[in-house]
Formats: sequence, structure tokens, C-alpha cells
Amino acid sequence: MPRPHFTIKNRFQKRSELYEDILTADILRDVCHRLTGRRDYTVTFDDNGYNIGRLATLEFNGTINYISFSEFEIGSRNSFFQSFPSALVKYHQEANTNKNIYFYFLEPDGNIETAYFIFMYRLMKTAGTVFLNETDYLVNTINPFNSVSDIIVQRDLNRGRNRGNASSYVTVDENDTLQIYGKTYGANKYETTLLCLAIHEITPYSMELYEIQEGDLRQLPRDARNVILSLGINVITSDLILEREEFERNDSLRSPTYIYNLLEKLGEKKCSLCDCEIPQIIQGAHIWPVASIKRTNNINLDVKIQHAIDGDNGLWLCNNHHKLFDINLLYISTDGRLKYKTDIEQNHETYLRDFTINSQLPNDILTPTFIDYLEKRNRVLDAGQYSYVS
Ligand SMILES: [Zn+2]
Repeated sequence: MPRPHFTIKNRFQKRSELYEDILTADILRDVCHRLTGRRDYTVTFDDNGYNIGRLATLEFNGTINYISFSEFEIGSRNSFFQSFPSALVKYHQEANTNKNIYFYFLEPDGNIETAYFIFMYRLMKTAGTVFLNETDYLVNTINPFNSVSDIIVQRDLNRGRNRGNASSYVTVDENDTLQIYGKTYGANKYETTLLCLAIHEITPYSMELYEIQEGDLRQLPRDARNVILSLGINVITSDLILEREEFERNDSLRSPTYIYNLLEKLGEKKCSLCDCEIPQIIQGAHIWPVASIKRTNNINLDVKIQHAIDGDNGLWLCNNHHKLFDINLLYISTDGRLKYKTDIEQNHETYLRDFTINSQLPNDILTPTFIDYLEKRNRVLDAGQYSYVS
């Protein structure tokens, strides 16, 4: 039987440096032994055209093993995870069906068990990666995620209040489609790719990826995009063309950019008035209605669309509260307090009181721009027809 054979795909280092300083003979022997039970191997270097660092394959007995090596840089969590998603994409592109994907820790520099790292390790395992030597370096046991909601919860814990730094969001729409909103620039594109490939392994839902434009980059790198498409994930580039068409056709607006902006401002879908968190029945409700924006005379179409997709021009509301808000049975005054229409039937009001939990919007929603939209909305309503919820 031929010896196990390594191919080292290398871009960043000269091969001599790589072999002497990073993937040393000791390390390759260790990897070989863990995967094949043998310590003798052959190796070739392949530095043609791979936009990849730290990836080796080990072929043995008809099986091809992809091994991604860690890349730790002091103070930079991004460099670490740039290598891995690229390796995962290459693994998915491998035609041989006898294939495995592994991750191997090289000697780390600094703390590699922050909440963020652990979250990413769990995503990697969810995506089918086997860690070869984690017990040498990690104190924590790393388990894959069991469910998408598990991913969302951990992610939010991780993210804390600092939502503005987030690069991607995961949610479910009214048709049970799992939607990932991901940015396409810099390190964000690697995180988006890893999220897609991990979630694909565990979700029973069909999936959509919305590529959120950032800078000049509108799409993920071609290889990553093709792998995601090949898994049956629908990929939609959010470049406001969809929004423009919808805006001109309808008075409601189906806009991935609007949903992204709401996720960024408000966090996960949750009705502001009743705390319902069932994502299938939570919608983005415009404060300044799309129909009113369209009717405004003194602003051009681009500005109108910006108002229609502004994260400050919206609330998460459940289907019921959204409808009641749209027909102006509910009224939100500019101090964020909720009012009911006074001329409704008593039993209707009783029902409203029963299922409306919050009669005051939290302060962090009430930004100056949000209040400005409320004023625009309320301008055409008669405040005298509403009374505060007591
Ligand atoms: Zn509600």
C-alpha cells in the first residue's frame, strides 16, 4: 500500500519557511499518525493559485482528508478564522466522496478560549469538522450546536449590547424559510460562509442567504458562493434593485435590507407590544408608512427608498399588532407610550389589554430619527381620538 501522502496548499509563506517553522516534520508526522495510524508519509507542495493558507490534504487508502491548521495572531481574532472557512469551501468542492475535514491546533499565542472563539469552534464542529488535537490546547469541551435557535442564543450572548459590530443575522420568515443576512466584506465574508455551511447541517428549513452590500463588494467570493448554491441555499444579493421595484409596485415593502437594518437596530424578531418571539409571525412594521412616503412630493425616489428601508423607521410587531397598528387602532405617541382608539367596542378593548403587554416602548428604540418618523405618521391622525392605556 502506498504511503500516506500530504499535499500542502500554501500561499503565504515560502515553502522552506512553512516547512521548517510552521508545518514541521513533527507536526505532519503527528497528523499522519492520528489519521492513518502510520508515521511515514510523502509530501508535495502545491502553491499554484490557491487563495488559501494553512491547508493540507492527506490522501490514504482512497480517502482524502482536509486538514486546516490554526493561525493565531496576537490581537487578531480574524486571521484565525480566515483560513478555516476557505479550507471548508475547498473541502466541499472536493469531488472524491470519501473525504473528511479536520482542524489541527498549532501552538497558540494568547487566549484561544474567549466566548467568541468557543462560538466559532462550535460552528466549525456543527459544519462537520473533527478537531484532531483540541485536548492538547483547550480546557473546555467543544460541542456542536444542536439547533439554529441554540446558535442564535449563543450568538446574542456573545454579542451583548454591541449590536452595531455584528456582521450577520439569522432568522426565520413567515414561510418557514431560514434566512441568513450576511455581509460580504473582509472577515465578515468568512463568518457568513461558516454560518451558512454550519446551519445547513442542522436546519430542517429551506435556506436563503442575503448578501448585504458593504463597500463595493456585493457578493461573497465566487468559490464560497458556488458551494453555498450547490447545497441548495438560495442566494440573494441585496443591492436595492428589489426594493426599488417593490417600492414602485406596492404600498408594502418586502425588503431584505429593511429587515437587516431592523435586526441591526432592534435585535432578534420580537413583538414590541406583546413580546411574542415566534419569528414566523413577526414582521417589520413601518412607522412612517410606505404609502405615505410614496405620496410625499418634495423628495426624490432614492431618498424615499432610504426612508422606507431605514432601521429607525420600524418596529418588530406580531401579525396582530402590525395589523392593528396599520389600521390606526393603535397609536404610539412621540414619548413612546401606547394609546388605543377611544371609540372601539368595550370587548375589543378588553381583548387588546389582555394580549398587549408593553404600553411603553423602551428608550433605546426612541432615537431622534424614530421620533421624527412617529411625528410624520401621527401628523395625519387625530390624537384626540386616542387615549393612553391605563
Ligand atoms: Zn404582538
